[in-house]
Amino acid sequence: MKFGTKVVHSSLSPNKQVKSKTTPIYQTSAFAFSSLEELEGFYQGESPYLYSRVGNPNTDELGMTVAQLEGAPAGVAASSGLGAILSGVVALCGQGDHIVASEDLYGGTYQLLKEELQSFGITTSFVDFSDQQKIEKAITPQTKLLFSETITNPFLRVEDIENLVAFAKTHHLKTMIDNTFATPYLLQPFTMGVDLVVHSATKYIGGHSDITAGVIVGAEEIISAVKTKVVNMGVNLSPFEAWLTCRGNKTLALRMSKQSENAERLATYFQPHPQIEKVFYPKNVSLKGNGAIVTIELSRDCDISTFFRSLGWVKIVPTLAGVETSVSYPLGTSHRALPPQAQEKLGITTHVVRISVGIEELEDIIEQFKHALTSSLK
Ligand SMILES: *Cc1c(COP(=O)(O)O)cnc(C)c1O
Repeated sequence: MKFGTKVVHSSLSPNKQVKSKTTPIYQTSAFAFSSLEELEGFYQGESPYLYSRVGNPNTDELGMTVAQLEGAPAGVAASSGLGAILSGVVALCGQGDHIVASEDLYGGTYQLLKEELQSFGITTSFVDFSDQQKIEKAITPQTKLLFSETITNPFLRVEDIENLVAFAKTHHLKTMIDNTFATPYLLQPFTMGVDLVVHSATKYIGGHSDITAGVIVGAEEIISAVKTKVVNMGVNLSPFEAWLTCRGNKTLALRMSKQSENAERLATYFQPHPQIEKVFYPKNVSLKGNGAIVTIELSRDCDISTFFRSLGWVKIVPTLAGVETSVSYPLGTSHRALPPQAQEKLGITTHVVRISVGIEELEDIIEQFKHALTSSLK
């Protein structure tokens, strides 16, 4: 099956007696047994479900679906993208281990690695991943893992995955990649040799800004270890949210195709605009497109508050990836937690705006930005 077909036909049908077209919501905290023998059957692997924190058909459907789209044998859902990242990292690293991570990571991931995991004895060095020598310099005998993102936020640097995997192999390190911005529609890092691929399903997999969820995929053995962490740390996803995420995911190919096309054209519109200092939009991400995020830096003739106030139906939100076009302000939200020197080094200035391009008609999207730019001229 091609991607666009696979993404639609991913339902599990656990109940063979009731042949519903879609997977029902198994809104239950536990599963019932009619005898001790049947209960024992769970532990012998004869029946799949016991207690929803340990496993549920809806969360399994989400894990399996994303695994199939990524070309990986196994996947597990978690309560959030960060829950998935936490579970993946602690499945691969323990006390005393060291991680080398890209310095332009999503702010929440940076906090998780820097603040929380550090206190459990897992340390991280943050370096510029576009320079392999810097990665090499940061590696110590305790290093276990390299962590990066396929497309980074907000300046959309595209990771050279094949190179990173080859480099990791020569140093006997594992790799973990956050594929949230590219989605498996554009890139499938597992098929390029990455050990663990993680998603904030809150973004494009769900696609409708109505859930918080995470998914992590990889080989059977490693995902089995990750699943144990999800269960033991209690970062499981609820059945209803898993169901909504699977429902949203069915249109992933259509949404990403339209959103990437709109984004490419919006970036082209911004390029020659005199009020725009810089346009950030990646090239050569995949044959299917280059993603649906465009970042711009306004010129200093623009009043940034007026720009944000004049966007009409384009909402200001501290997230991305919904079907509606929205904007975010990295300095005030996603990168707020970074130290000022790090913000400056990354170029997160007062005039940087991140645009998550939606599925609306391109002419209407351009009209809103044109209006905001004109209004903001000092
Ligand atoms: C949002 C996001 C996360 C965190 O995901 P949550 O679902 O909010 O926990 C991680 N990585 C990236 C790239 C994100 O955009």
